[in-house]
Amino acid sequence: MSETVEDTAVVIVGAGVAGLTLGNFLLRNGIGCVVLEKRSREYVERRQRAGTIDSRGVRMFRAWGLEEVVESFGAPDESISFRMDGEEFTNDLFNNEDGDFDDMVFCPQQVLVRNLTDAFLRDGGDLRYESVGISLEDIDGAQPRVRYQDATGATRVVNCDYLAGCDGYHGVSRESIPADALTRYSYDYGYAWLSILADVTPDPAGMAIHSRGLAGIIPRGTTASRLYLQCAPDDTLEQWPDERVWSELEARFGIPVATGPVLHKQILPLRSVVYSPMSHGRLYLLGDAAHIVPPMSAKGINLALHDAEVFARAVIARIQKDDPALLTGYSETCLRHVWNYQAYAAWITELMHNAGDASYEGEFRKQTARAELERQFTSPTANRLFSEFAAGVN
Ligand SMILES: Cc1cc2nc3c(=O)[nH]c(=O)nc-3n(C[C@H](O)[C@H](O)[C@H](O)COP(=O)(O)OP(=O)(O)OC[C@H]3O[C@@H](n4cnc5c(N)ncnc54)[C@H](O)[C@@H]3O)c2cc1C
Repeated sequence: MSETVEDTAVVIVGAGVAGLTLGNFLLRNGIGCVVLEKRSREYVERRQRAGTIDSRGVRMFRAWGLEEVVESFGAPDESISFRMDGEEFTNDLFNNEDGDFDDMVFCPQQVLVRNLTDAFLRDGGDLRYESVGISLEDIDGAQPRVRYQDATGATRVVNCDYLAGCDGYHGVSRESIPADALTRYSYDYGYAWLSILADVTPDPAGMAIHSRGLAGIIPRGTTASRLYLQCAPDDTLEQWPDERVWSELEARFGIPVATGPVLHKQILPLRSVVYSPMSHGRLYLLGDAAHIVPPMSAKGINLALHDAEVFARAVIARIQKDDPALLTGYSETCLRHVWNYQAYAAWITELMHNAGDASYEGEFRKQTARAELERQFTSPTANRLFSEFAAGVN
């Protein structure tokens, strides 16, 4: 059967946060790109995950003239409370001047994705849903190619100068790199989160530290919430019927919680992973394709945005100014940022969990975690690390 062969500057694999942000940045700078996404538009725009865009991310969109894609559903300092053993305590977490929280917003990931998609298509972007069987070829050569089947089943080939692997942790891009060319660094925290999407007003919105384990009720818009319950990594969904979810949230928060229809449940073992380097030949990895952080840090989406900006600047410099320096330094630039955020993610994840459930690290670590948390909540000096990272100024 005949193949359709085309050429473009950059093929972007994956129309998630990283891929669409990159696509918009390139398009606005006149760089040709094709975005290939294996799912349907409807599926991608409904996929609910993260919800916090840090100040750095919001300002980045503003600087690229894309502020419209960020919709604020509240600021974390106004929406999040903390409880320990059922008692609410006041905190100055988000009031540290070093924190620069002014621009940080709750913006559900699917809202950001929908808005990025609209902007890309409105500006004439080439976005191809239901592109399946993607294979990346000749990634070491001068002109790599992507072969795939389009929505009609026809085989298409796109030649390009650069490939952006934005297809998440389970995508094909990273798998195309020879195993001996990548090092995988990973850390398992030993516990998991039961992550639930519910059609319910986030009430109370916040985090609860409790000896039964950590719990969270985080806004995803005004009438939807993501609920988190620390659980064992080998727990199954059958062990967590809806009634248990609500009673456990109530026990950990120590007050009644608003209940509503549960839309989706999954168990996420908490872990951190980094692949290094983040490029091979003409293939560059962005976002979850290269690294994942535990959801406690709320940094996955923000790391994806950072990678997209670094890569966009590098490609623009290479193509428009014939300057290869940023592209050559892409992996190193991103990894420095990624490891900084991994350090923050590991610290905040262990602190919040150790302060509650002592069955993993013991009673001694529980007491030191509580002392550390108290300092975070009351001392602007101690709170600096949290403030800088949570706001994304680092
Ligand atoms: C339940 C859950 C809760 C989370 N909560 C938070 C949070 O609170 N805060 C936070 O910052 N982060 C959170 N994250 C992480 C965050 O969602 C990710 O870090 C973010 O989506 C990464 O963006 P990305 O563009 O790299 O990948 P994705 O958003 O995963 O996008 C990858 C895209 O590639 C497509 N794709 C995959 N394989 C292929 C293929 N073979 N061919 C073509 N296309 C393909 C996918 O369909 C998808 O559209 C959460 C994740 C989950 C699962």
